[in-house]
Amino acid sequence: MKKFETKVLHSGYKQDKTIKSKATPIYQTSAFTFSSLEELEGFYQTNSSYLYTRTGNPNTDELGGLAAQLEGAPAGVASSSGLSAILVGILSVAKAGDHIIAAEDVYGGTFHMLKEELKHLGIETSFVSFVQQEEIERAIKENTVLLYSETITNPFMRVEDIQQMVSIAKKHSLKTMVDNTFATPYLLRPYESGINIVAHSATKYFGGHSDVTAGVVVGDAELIQKAREKVVNLGANLSPFEAWLTCRGAKTLSLRMEKQSRNAAALARALKENELVDRVYYPDYVSPNGNGAMVSIQLSQDLDISAFFKSLGWVKIVPTLAGVETTVSYPLGTSHRALPPEAQERLGINTHVVRISVGIEDSEDIVEQFSEAIRLSR
Ligand SMILES: *Cc1c(COP(=O)(O)O)cnc(C)c1O
Repeated sequence: MKKFETKVLHSGYKQDKTIKSKATPIYQTSAFTFSSLEELEGFYQTNSSYLYTRTGNPNTDELGGLAAQLEGAPAGVASSSGLSAILVGILSVAKAGDHIIAAEDVYGGTFHMLKEELKHLGIETSFVSFVQQEEIERAIKENTVLLYSETITNPFMRVEDIQQMVSIAKKHSLKTMVDNTFATPYLLRPYESGINIVAHSATKYFGGHSDVTAGVVVGDAELIQKAREKVVNLGANLSPFEAWLTCRGAKTLSLRMEKQSRNAAALARALKENELVDRVYYPDYVSPNGNGAMVSIQLSQDLDISAFFKSLGWVKIVPTLAGVETTVSYPLGTSHRALPPEAQERLGINTHVVRISVGIEDSEDIVEQFSEAIRLSR
């Protein structure tokens, strides 16, 4: 079984040999029972069954296993959110006294976690542009242990040079970690290109239906073993029901990504033609399967931005992405709100930047809705 479309449906679920349900049951239980002390001891000897849901549950294991299969990695573990997946991934490599080099355009929550929370725990991070190899190498110190970035960044869809990250890491004996949320393994499988750890906010495309908050991290077996210990010991476990919903959503990951990427490409093309759109941020090339479903635009200063957001009809304004419905977000007002004005300006976040998460609707309807909103806000 090789192809992604097949693996996405046939990985993960370990069917109970007596009950044989087609769909995975929800193991909504805090603990598992034992009928003797010998059986209990057997758990510790073989680790092949379950004890307590915080330490392991069939539904969360299904998600970890599925993500690992799809990314082509030997191991994976699910966690309570994308941010906790990133945390346990980082902590599988870094400890107090260590130094991390992160791309300056990482997700806002990750930026804050590295800059504040992990700093207070003794892990220091330098944020640099990952565009030039020299900038990354210049930031390397004696105690650097990890290079951290994202496969496609937010909100301007910069596609990371994974080969460059891997070659710098090899040369300097560092580990590498990327957040693959925007691309999903349908488009990019950075583990197969030599990245050690890959994290996802499964809240986004893995789940795909905006009804769950979840995370998953996959990678080298010994690092994921450590990440799993962090999930257990820091209490960052995912609930069985949320894991079940995420796995249910993931069954259509390839169908959704294919359609959403195609719709996004069509919208990007149409908006490039629109004279009231100064710039369209959509990658030229991500993978043979498409270029992703996120499009950002710089609207003309001649437009009334507030009127634009009021004229979007069925397109809702939300501070998230990756659901089956097309939605918009306002980076200046949400994801990049906390950045100092100089940083906002340097990154190009201004009053007329809009981020669009393209859904699975009819592509002509999507194009028409945005064209109309632009028309109405002149
Ligand atoms: C949403 C997001 C996260 C954080 O995930 P949560 O599930 O909200 O914790 C991390 N990285 C990226 C790229 C995201 O879009």
